[in-house]
Amino acid sequence: MILRSVVILFLAAFNLINAQSVKPKNIIILIGDGMGINYVGASILQDSISPFKEFKTIGLSITCSADKLITDSAAGATAIATGYLTNNKYISVDTLGRPLYTIFEHAEKLGLSTGLVVTATVTHATPGAFVGHTNDRNDQTLIASQMVEQDVDVVIGGGLKYFLPKSFSGERDDNVFLTDRLVNKGYALAKSYSELNELSDTTRQFYALLEMDGLPESLRRDYSLGDLTKKALSHLKNDSDGFVIMIEGSQIDWAGHDHKSKELLEEMKDFSSAVTEALVFAKADKNTLVLITSDHETGGMSVTKGNLDGSELELSYTSGGHTPSPVGIFAYGPGEELFKGTMNINDIGQKLFFLLDPTYKF
Ligand SMILES: [Zn+2]
Repeated sequence: MILRSVVILFLAAFNLINAQSVKPKNIIILIGDGMGINYVGASILQDSISPFKEFKTIGLSITCSADKLITDSAAGATAIATGYLTNNKYISVDTLGRPLYTIFEHAEKLGLSTGLVVTATVTHATPGAFVGHTNDRNDQTLIASQMVEQDVDVVIGGGLKYFLPKSFSGERDDNVFLTDRLVNKGYALAKSYSELNELSDTTRQFYALLEMDGLPESLRRDYSLGDLTKKALSHLKNDSDGFVIMIEGSQIDWAGHDHKSKELLEEMKDFSSAVTEALVFAKADKNTLVLITSDHETGGMSVTKGNLDGSELELSYTSGGHTPSPVGIFAYGPGEELFKGTMNINDIGQKLFFLLDPTYKF
């Protein structure tokens, strides 16, 4: 009995040491919304220097939500942000509507910085699950209020209208200027890409709300998600305690819903530019985990035609909505081995919590 206890204690200590040795200082989560395996495949076929070719650790994520075979973005992002499955349309609340603790909340509690970079509104379902709690993903004015209270350090994306009252061409019924609230809290505010670039690297906390609604699609933008990612990382890296950032290629999903193949491939290029920036940062830093995945597949897409060099790819679709096809996981950096194999989407969230804090218990 004593021997057994000693063995258990020894194993527990070994596990702890093991866990600490893989604990990354920084975590970069990249989510390609709607990015099924065939999206990554099309991107690899088209782009000879695709950053996806660099990954050695690859897994498969089963994306079903708590109540549906086919998830929506809210439940999908909640699983990654909290480690729990929930119902479709729910943003980081459980199936009974009670708030679920998020990886951003825990990172902030531990003294790390947090960041969000998206091409949709910053209050959309995917970023919303990292900064808000509601059973209605469409309540973006509520999510805006919640994220301002949560003190996320770096925020880049669209959706300025959810921070402004209706009387000021915004969407808020409560007549509140959340932009003033941010400035009073000491945040810098940028309302265009050039204003974002003017922020000095020493600016610790800022919101860059570049459009009233989502950002233009990548074809109609003169900056990439990679540019935005690089900028966010240049600020977050100043926190000696580390950071957690979520970067979303939001409009990959929109192109998939609309069966717009040219736009889909362009959005994948845009997302790939962010993956490249994340890998450049992680390789130089040597203590950063890069984790890429998706919340679900969209459109039942596959490549059905094209040239050997990857040009003129033709894509076909079997659905106008999401599908339950499992999606890929690509990991690089300390802790990457946890993401090998097949897992449920909320396992990704639980593993991220573990890497952030090996003592955290679910
Ligand atoms: Zn989605």
